Amino acid sequence: MSRIRILDPAVADRIAAGEVVERPASVVKELLENALDAHARSVVIEVEGAGLQLIRVTDDGEGIAEEDVTVAFERFATSKIATLDDLHRMRSYGFRGEALPSIAAVAQVVLTTRQPGAPAAVRVVVVGGRVQSVEGYGAPPGTTVEVRRLFHTTPARLKFLKSPAREQALIADTVLKATLAAPEVTFRLAFDGREPTVWPAASLAERVAAALGVRSPGELIEVHAAVPGGTVRGWVHHPQRSRPTRSAQYVLVNGRPVQHAGLRRAVEQGCAQLVPTGRFPAFVLFLDVTPALVDVNVHPRKLEVRLRDEGRLVGAVAGAVRSALLASPLVRQATAAPLPAGSGGVVTSWQELSTQPAPGSTASLDLAVREGVDAYLGTGGPRLPPLRPLGQVLLTYIVAEGPDGLYLVDQHAAHERVLFERLRGARARGDLPRQVLAVPLPVEVSPADLHLITGARDVLAALGYEVEPFGPHTALLRAVPALAAAARYEDLLRRVLAALADDGEGEEPLDRLAIATACHAAIRAGDRLTPDTMGALLADLATTDDPFTCFHGRPTIVAIPRAQLERWFLRT
Ligand code: ADP
Ligand code: MG
Repeated sequence: MSRIRILDPAVADRIAAGEVVERPASVVKELLENALDAHARSVVIEVEGAGLQLIRVTDDGEGIAEEDVTVAFERFATSKIATLDDLHRMRSYGFRGEALPSIAAVAQVVLTTRQPGAPAAVRVVVVGGRVQSVEGYGAPPGTTVEVRRLFHTTPARLKFLKSPAREQALIADTVLKATLAAPEVTFRLAFDGREPTVWPAASLAERVAAALGVRSPGELIEVHAAVPGGTVRGWVHHPQRSRPTRSAQYVLVNGRPVQHAGLRRAVEQGCAQLVPTGRFPAFVLFLDVTPALVDVNVHPRKLEVRLRDEGRLVGAVAGAVRSALLASPLVRQATAAPLPAGSGGVVTSWQELSTQPAPGSTASLDLAVREGVDAYLGTGGPRLPPLRPLGQVLLTYIVAEGPDGLYLVDQHAAHERVLFERLRGARARGDLPRQVLAVPLPVEVSPADLHLITGARDVLAALGYEVEPFGPHTALLRAVPALAAAARYEDLLRRVLAALADDGEGEEPLDRLAIATACHAAIRAGDRLTPDTMGALLADLATTDDPFTCFHGRPTIVAIPRAQLERWFLRT
């Protein structure tokens, strides 16, 4: 490692200021970054008392020169950058020389270090920010930093900490992110003297699999694409294995684990309509672009970065994720088929059905059928073959015959898809028909809801809703989209408000509103349908852009092809 120098004031002044050590996990993060910057191959993290009693990080990296060990504890002392320009091209995690002094200011620190060529190690003790002693010591090459009694000088800080269990979980998450940043490094993490968790050196894909809690990378959908200025690489867990929270979402920009709402949303948008509403995809995303596109000097704890040309990058990432998912056999497979495995399946495209042999059979479709199929594959034509409704099962599924076999259609999911696309189309054309209520309907709502209504007036109007505050606890509904005209209005409004309030889906407010409206207005499971209604629904479904899934990610239609029927009845 090069010599440590104090940054020029002109450079130091440009460093994003703020608190470096917020909680025990911040200390772990900084010490891990230093170990990785020193090119360690092995890092051991030992934690006692949720990090308040002891945090010890031991690495086998390049160590610090004896004459530099005390300098390292001065503010803005760093070996990693020297000039402002370095800030825009560096590849190290650290760059501001603030971690060691910040930690030493709020804890007792003992640093032992030895460079590989040095005859012995040197140990420095720092208490209350003051160097107490520096002496020779016997230790292998590398660096050990021990941090004891964190925040003992600033007890007020302790009040802001979460429970010990939570602080410990945050430490574990910090280590997990480091394992993603440096797969070639072996990590060991031990709490309170217990058996350590070990991450042996591994491939990136294996590390990702471990982080997402799957047995092998084969269970994940891999994304790999060029983006402006670099590449994106990622692994997304199957949309059906989405999580109830965002806890399994990791973004690394040029190897640095960061929080980046834009990139996170890009992945969620890529997964839109495949992941059920209210759930979140699990993924690890690596964006690697030229350092000039990334400003790392925006957050005191280096938790965020700013991307130049963010819009284009985010769009490219969303597109890459989308294509990877749609191309993945994992996603196209019949995971939700209500039939025994290998017997029929969820249709993901008519083309697929027409060109692939039925699962588990060698028979393929008749030539005649295939010609018929080709006729339907022209652009702008219907996306489904002609379907003749035969009836309803369980008042939930429409049974239909097509040219090549039997189809089951989920009546609610199918109608949702039809209504959603109709809303979207009409909105795009700007001719969304609306229904003005004969008598405006007062609905009791919370003040927060009233706030939402005022704030989202334009979005609401764009879909045909007219609603306004009417006293401190009441909203007045005057008009709704025409296609929701038969719906129970009070429930409809509540759903719409819930959709507006919940901005966690990675979808635009307009889409969320359209989804809520379509879902509410759609035919339900349990509704009895006439043959005419069924016929109309199937015909409408065939004209949608994506007749195969509803926007909650569930299939709308499953097929039992002729070949499958023939196998069942031993006609082949
Ligand atoms: P920064 O990482 O921003 O340079 P720090 O305060 O974290 O600032 O560390 C100061 C300096 O001490 C580093 O630049 C590096 O030269 C040295 N250093 C700290 N930790 C280690 C380590 N584990 N191994 C080798 N050198 C280290
Ligand atoms: Mg550092």
